[in-house]
Amino acid sequence: MESSGIREAPGRGPRVLVVGGGIAGLGAAQRLCCCSALPSLRVLEATARAGGRIRSERSFGGVVEVGAHWIHGPSQSNPVFQLAARYGLLGEKELSEENQLVETGGHVGLPSVTYTSSGGSVSLELVAEMSSLFYSLIDQTREFLHSAEAPAPSVGEYLKKQIREHVASWAEGEGTKMLKLAILNNLFNVECCVSGTHSMDLVALAPFGEYTVLPGLDCTFPGGYQGLTDRMAASLPTDVMVFDKPVKTIRWNGSFQEASAPGEAFPVLVECEDGGCFPAHHVIVTVPLGPATCSAASSPGWSPSSWRRCRMRTCSCLSPRCSAG
Ligand SMILES: Cc1cc2nc3c(=O)[nH]c(=O)nc-3n(C[C@H](O)[C@H](O)[C@H](O)COP(=O)(O)OP(=O)(O)OC[C@H]3O[C@@H](n4cnc5c(N)ncnc54)[C@H](O)[C@@H]3O)c2cc1C
Repeated sequence: MESSGIREAPGRGPRVLVVGGGIAGLGAAQRLCCCSALPSLRVLEATARAGGRIRSERSFGGVVEVGAHWIHGPSQSNPVFQLAARYGLLGEKELSEENQLVETGGHVGLPSVTYTSSGGSVSLELVAEMSSLFYSLIDQTREFLHSAEAPAPSVGEYLKKQIREHVASWAEGEGTKMLKLAILNNLFNVECCVSGTHSMDLVALAPFGEYTVLPGLDCTFPGGYQGLTDRMAASLPTDVMVFDKPVKTIRWNGSFQEASAPGEAFPVLVECEDGGCFPAHHVIVTVPLGPATCSAASSPGWSPSSWRRCRMRTCSCLSPRCSAG
């Protein structure tokens, strides 16, 4: 078999490959490096850089976050916060106990001033009233997590149905009603930003309550979020990261040989687009599900059923765990 043509990975334990060098892949690699029997470890990253969707651009003078921006719920139970604090990447305010104790319930704070499109200011009381209505409905959506039947397929449809019922009981004049609906529309848009979607109709209602809101007032990295993934990548032994190695296919449950390890059989084979092959004992896939189901899944060996199987058996999709090296 054609081998990877890359130097032997550091470590002497079982051979482990991590696919994807975003924060999840880096977190998995960091954790594995802490094992007493250090595995022979590689992170195969498709691009020329680590960090994935975390990227801070500095060429505009200041720091511009191209991807992730906020630490949501920055408090002790948040692994991103823990790592950032350990690496000294946060300011005094972000680290303060007071900041960590703030309970927002996942709701965005009220703006100090709101204007209509024609420039007139909107009464704060009206904004507060609509905000309170909107967030009480958002809180209701979380109650359908374990119910057998959700009353609507999506969060958006549920909210709109509830709002229609409220509107029917509004006794104000047309102008005020229109203003109230405009405020609610704005709150919908804010919620779209929070949920990373262009429409709440695309967010399923039943699992919406799975999201756990941690305490702490959302904060940013003064020097850029990428400082975190840069530090994580730098903490790995040299040669662990392999860049420009897009993985094409993963073959599971086989018996693969390698010329440099005569007599040894590996259960998994990772094939890259450049023809490189990496036999391994274990593979951890951290690429987003979108690419996995669109491109990798169309490759031989990646069917929806194999994707389900691999998530349950040989590999796991990991979230970053706190393990600064
Ligand atoms: C614009 C934007 C704003 C965001 N804002 C926030 C925020 O404020 N706060 C927050 O917590 N989160 C935010 N997120 C989400 C956050 O960035 C992601 O949840 C997180 O970065 C995902 O990390 P990951 O390692 O799982 O995946 P990714 O970062 O996507 O990493 C996956 C890696 O796998 C590589 N890869 C893909 N396919 C292959 C392949 N076939 N072979 C090898 N490698 C491959 C990719 O190149 C990438 O490096 C935001 C995301 C975006 C896009």
